Amino acid sequence: MKKALIIGGGFAGCAAAHQIQLIGGWDVTLVERAPFLGGGVKTHWRGGHPFTFGPRHFLTPMEELFDYLNAIVPMRKLDHEFITYVEQDRNYYTFPIHKDDIPRMPDREQIEKEIAEAQQLKGWTAAKNFEEYWLSSIGKSLYGKMVDGYSRKMWQVESNAMLDDFGWSPKGVAIKEGPREGWDTAISAYPLAPDGYDHYFDVATAGTTVKLKTEIEAFDIQNKRVQIAGEWHSYDLIVNTVSPDMLLNYAYGELPYVGREFMTIILPTEYAFPDKVYFTYYAGDEPYTRIVEYKKFTQHQSPSTLIGIEIPSHKNKLYPMPIKKEIARAYQYFDDLPDGVVSMGRAGSYKYIDIDDIIWQAMKMAEELKGGGFSHPVPVYGADQSAPNLLTQKMVEANIVPGGSGTASE
Ligand SMILES: Cc1cc2nc3c(=O)[nH]c(=O)nc-3n(C[C@H](O)[C@H](O)[C@H](O)COP(=O)(O)OP(=O)(O)OC[C@H]3O[C@@H](n4cnc5c(N)ncnc54)[C@H](O)[C@@H]3O)c2cc1C
Repeated sequence: MKKALIIGGGFAGCAAAHQIQLIGGWDVTLVERAPFLGGGVKTHWRGGHPFTFGPRHFLTPMEELFDYLNAIVPMRKLDHEFITYVEQDRNYYTFPIHKDDIPRMPDREQIEKEIAEAQQLKGWTAAKNFEEYWLSSIGKSLYGKMVDGYSRKMWQVESNAMLDDFGWSPKGVAIKEGPREGWDTAISAYPLAPDGYDHYFDVATAGTTVKLKTEIEAFDIQNKRVQIAGEWHSYDLIVNTVSPDMLLNYAYGELPYVGREFMTIILPTEYAFPDKVYFTYYAGDEPYTRIVEYKKFTQHQSPSTLIGIEIPSHKNKLYPMPIKKEIARAYQYFDDLPDGVVSMGRAGSYKYIDIDDIIWQAMKMAEELKGGGFSHPVPVYGADQSAPNLLTQKMVEANIVPGGSGTASE
């Protein structure tokens, strides 16, 4: 029997294990550093309340991906709004920026003038970085209020001009009209079970040898050999879901990421946020980016509620940087991977992707495995790396500002 190794037991590692098991005929081992499977999507508990590290609701425009996950962990569909607090106005506004909020802004006349100018100049079509795109799309005032501070905080950068990877084609003024709900043209869902997605991780890894609290000690990736607990093992297939620099001993330098500190607080009230509001974003110099009321997702019955607070940090690696130079560095690593080594998941692809993209990657990986060869070590990109960017498609279809922007995608 052929042998496969999966490195990392987050959503990507588990989805990969499931797809390989569905093909059959593989002896699969998965190594996970933590004492549990699921990575950031694992359910934890505080005061009886379930929560995950960050919201982790399931977002997709692709019905078939929803059907796949829903068959294993039945989900309820959600209807929610994202709101952003703007300290300078002492007010909350809908995000993506909503047309109907502009009349409520104290500097509305200036904003409307700047938007009209931007419309006329259409400078966004030539924008070279995130800052240029937004300035030439919505003007200085709205950018300063809603986007600039949030994005710099989210990515921990001094200027948004440093963010030069656009995973989307600018379409014009990024202001939403119509319903205020986020993802109103796509599916947003969360598992019905109190333990969220946890059952998925068990189902996906059935038949796989799972080694928890285990790390690879040394890599000989060219020969698909790794050292685990002092012994060298060879594999026919390696599916990596962690940062690819590690596999090649950081030969081109360490890939940068932004991480998060995460705090939970129980409040003595049944619900803290208004009806459809699950998330609040903070666009100013508060240390946190987002506050989430988990009960809105989990519908846990309790007289109290639980909120989670996310603070950007460099203590963990959760968000690959949307900077071309760093993406090119990741590609140096991908280009050095031999046949039979696949790299997927958020860190593994060095791309700001979500749970649905990851399931898609696992399906694509398995399809290519069955077909006898991989077109590229990272599923999603075609051999010429020009295949459609799933994330972009999703955002455009859902009428949501791109994920690469560090806005309200997840
Ligand atoms: C705060 C936050 C909120 C999010 N919210 C949403 C959302 O609402 N909806 C959505 O669709 N997506 C969301 N995402 C994105 C989505 O959850 C991730 O893309 C997805 O969970 C990533 O899965 P993964 O397996 O690639 O990574 P991870 O979940 O990070 O898993 C990687 C695993 O590898 C293990 N590992 C790391 N290094 C090693 C090593 N050396 N050896 C062995 N194991 C190792 C880790 O312990 C971890 O279990 C969010 C992401 C974040 C950070």
